[in-house]
Amino acid sequence: MVGAGPGGLTFARVLHRHGHPVTVLERDPSPDARPPGGTLDLHAGLGQLALEKAGLLAEFQALSRPEGQALRILDTDGTVLRDWHPDPGERANPEIDRGQLRDLLLGPLDVRWGQRVTHVEPGTGDGTVVHCADGHREAFDLVIGADGAWSRVRPALSPTAPHYTGVTAFETSLDDIDTTRPDLARLVGDGSMAVYGAGRSIVAQRGSGGHVKVYAQFRTPLDRHTDPHLDLTDAEAVRRRLLDLFDGWAAPVLELLRQGAAFVHRPLHVLPVGHTWTHVPGVTLLGDAAHLMPPLGAGANLAMLEGAELAEALATGSGELDDTVRAFEERMWARAAGWARRTTDGLERLVSDDPSEALALFDEVQPS
Ligand SMILES: Cc1cc2nc3c(=O)[nH]c(=O)nc-3n(C[C@H](O)[C@H](O)[C@H](O)COP(=O)(O)OP(=O)(O)OC[C@H]3O[C@@H](n4cnc5c(N)ncnc54)[C@H](O)[C@@H]3O)c2cc1C
Repeated sequence: MVGAGPGGLTFARVLHRHGHPVTVLERDPSPDARPPGGTLDLHAGLGQLALEKAGLLAEFQALSRPEGQALRILDTDGTVLRDWHPDPGERANPEIDRGQLRDLLLGPLDVRWGQRVTHVEPGTGDGTVVHCADGHREAFDLVIGADGAWSRVRPALSPTAPHYTGVTAFETSLDDIDTTRPDLARLVGDGSMAVYGAGRSIVAQRGSGGHVKVYAQFRTPLDRHTDPHLDLTDAEAVRRRLLDLFDGWAAPVLELLRQGAAFVHRPLHVLPVGHTWTHVPGVTLLGDAAHLMPPLGAGANLAMLEGAELAEALATGSGELDDTVRAFEERMWARAAGWARRTTDGLERLVSDDPSEALALFDEVQPS
């Protein structure tokens, strides 16, 4: 397994549950080498099903935040347009911090940290050979690339690389918001708060412990710079640029950008909807490496379910390894294509010239 993200770890954990050994190679030097990121909502039929297969559903339920399903939509002048709260007991999509999920999945697993894979070589007499940046090479019966958007395993199967969607995002965060800024804590609420304007949006998501991630998204034809003179490492310059871009929006909403710490630039890239490849024995992909799509609540869920299903099929199936992998790929492609279509359409509507599209989308998908 290449990659200890949600997909790779779920695969490894389910195999471990069935008593099978698995090698996980991860480029990060340790689990805490970089901030784990924001919060993830895990859907009942996807991420939660995967955790059930890993025997971890009860622990997830104890850790997760069902109240985090709340969603408030504001107009750019601060008027509340929608304010949805889950019913007590509603557990369709509870939220969990990425770091908590990673630790839950890691459990007893033995990950080889600091092993950055450079490429894989299928079809050698010994199996598929994995090459690492430190010169280490090792052959395996099956190599699974769960190494995310810029997968180093993918080129062994497909020449396709992710392309830019036309939407870029800057991410910032506020800590301990309930204590430091109770006014902003009330604005964000228990879950997410979103404001949609023409071709741009600001979304804030509450994690545990009063941590809030804020995403400022907008359409721009350039896939790296919003302005050729903007130094993306200069937080104050980025903040000024964003405050200009969102000029005229309600002051409390802009306060989220004023109070945010550093900014991380995240141009949104995707693989083509329906990305597939010609099957190659001894190597496959799952998660973002196979079907990177707009970040609208599906990617980690799919990666986890794929990891769980492939592990279960390998552990319990009686057929040939290669037939099991082929059947897994067919199933993954069909399911992921549907989600890729929905999330691609969703991104178009959420970052649209007509902000009423975002509201219409909310009304279509949200239970009343
Ligand atoms: C802002 C944002 C919010 C999101 N919110 C949600 C959400 O609420 N719900 C949801 O389902 N999805 C969400 N997603 C999408 C989700 O984060 C991804 O789809 C998911 O993380 C994919 O999991 P993965 O295991 O396939 O890959 P990743 O999470 O990308 O993990 C890949 C792992 O492989 C490692 N790796 C990479 N290259 C190498 C290499 N060469 N050698 C060894 N290791 C390597 C990486 O360090 C990493 O640990 C969001 C995404 C973003 C950007």
